[in-house]
Amino acid sequence: MTHDLIIIGAGPAGMSAALTAAALGLKTVLLDEQPRAGGQIYRNVTAVDPVVSELLGPDYLHGRPLAESLARSGVELRHSTLVWDVARDLTVTAQQQSQSFQVRAPQLIAATGAMERASPILGWTLPGVMNAGAAQIALKCAGSVPSGPVVLAGGGPLLLLVACQLLDAGVTVAGIVETSPSGNRWAAMPHFAAALATPAYLTKGLRMMWRLRRAGVPWFTSASQLVVEGQERAEALRFTAGGREHRLAASVVLLHHGVVPNTQLSRLMRVAHTWDDAQLAWRPELDAWGQTSLPGLRIAGDGASIAGALAAEAAGTVAALGAAHAMQRLTDSERDQRAGPARRALLKQLRIRPFLDALYRPPPWINTPADDTVVCRCEEVTAGRVREMARLGCQGPNQTKFFSRCGMGPCQGRMCSLTVTQILAGELGKPPAEVGAYRIRAPLKPIPLASLASLATPSPKEPQA
Ligand SMILES: Cc1cc2nc3c(=O)[nH]c(=O)nc-3n(C[C@H](O)[C@H](O)[C@H](O)COP(=O)(O)OP(=O)(O)OC[C@H]3O[C@@H](n4cnc5c(N)ncnc54)[C@H](O)[C@@H]3O)c2cc1C
Repeated sequence: MTHDLIIIGAGPAGMSAALTAAALGLKTVLLDEQPRAGGQIYRNVTAVDPVVSELLGPDYLHGRPLAESLARSGVELRHSTLVWDVARDLTVTAQQQSQSFQVRAPQLIAATGAMERASPILGWTLPGVMNAGAAQIALKCAGSVPSGPVVLAGGGPLLLLVACQLLDAGVTVAGIVETSPSGNRWAAMPHFAAALATPAYLTKGLRMMWRLRRAGVPWFTSASQLVVEGQERAEALRFTAGGREHRLAASVVLLHHGVVPNTQLSRLMRVAHTWDDAQLAWRPELDAWGQTSLPGLRIAGDGASIAGALAAEAAGTVAALGAAHAMQRLTDSERDQRAGPARRALLKQLRIRPFLDALYRPPPWINTPADDTVVCRCEEVTAGRVREMARLGCQGPNQTKFFSRCGMGPCQGRMCSLTVTQILAGELGKPPAEVGAYRIRAPLKPIPLASLASLATPSPKEPQA
């Protein structure tokens, strides 16, 4: 083994873990499938067009010094590198330039972040319908925005943020269609006092709402029965709000119902997970240092639980200190003392979470859609077919996959996993924790066969068998 620590993911969690590890003298390699450090929030921050960076503002630019320090840190950086397998002995298999290679270290930090929750509604598979985050990725990476009118539907801070960013970029926002049920406001009230500990978030939220109202963007709340209309592609969003049916013409419909931890890698590694009923998602079980149920594997950032970029940064530091301690590079008291500021930052960031989780809890029809809605986009399996599988005796997602092909496509159930678990839970009358999740197998994402074969090809110096 030539490294002490492997980090997967160069978002705020992975970058701060790498910087902490480097400062402690750990020989570290950081792998990320993106061409540059930054993760979701700071995507492309070191190479972004100056006009776009001004539009994205100071929250985005916060990532630049992190990414620049990382480049000078001495950490071995392997960008454009997709990790497609990690064995339980912590051997990481990754692909760079269509060639696979393996690397192993006694400590591994997975900082693979979050993904947007699927928003299965009628018509969501039409061209022109995307997640709101996808539109933001196009803006950050290519400076490109939709040309026609855009409707944004769903709920959560990222929905409002993307709406404001598109508006600032000159896009016609034809409407915001919020789906959060009105009862969410009452459910969030008891958490409001704690949320006041992070007034900056509340102010940001109010500022975004004000920006959209001032621009005269039509705004609908507690909307339901969403249908994307269109023959060849999205043409309009139809929905019910305020007791009336509405129709907003749009060439692009952006959906968003919050983000959830990306647990594909932790599932692949068979570590223990818990169902988080506040975030309606799985999260890996961790100790205070990000350690999972598998010794040596730590998880930091939104891949552990959704808490935002500043919390991810702090959690990365804590996980790296945990790794250094496990390798006897720090004593208990050195580790605890160094973790102090990061722990305080983490606690502060976490105080607003219960408020946001309650306020933006998605409506039940997003997690358990109507029978005729496609839930598995890869294999075109509907919610009704999943319910039928339960009635025929399937007890969980893996049996359902076997008999219906739901979740068997190239995304390996990344999109439909949470929906299928919740549909089955409703149908079987069991909590999601008992229903379970898809078993994930390598490769985590599709890779070319030649890349797989490159692992078995002996290097020219190796003797032929
Ligand atoms: C699409 C999207 C857009 C978002 N935009 C914003 C925003 O504008 N503002 C905001 O406050 N929050 C945003 N968020 C929330 C935000 O992701 C987090 O709060 C923050 O970025 C979490 O940091 P992280 O380090 O945990 O993970 P991330 O920043 O998500 O970083 C994870 C990194 O892991 C890499 N990775 C994942 N799997 C693999 C693999 N198998 N092999 C190699 N590399 C891998 C990814 O390429 C990524 O760079 C967004 C979330 C999403 C899903």
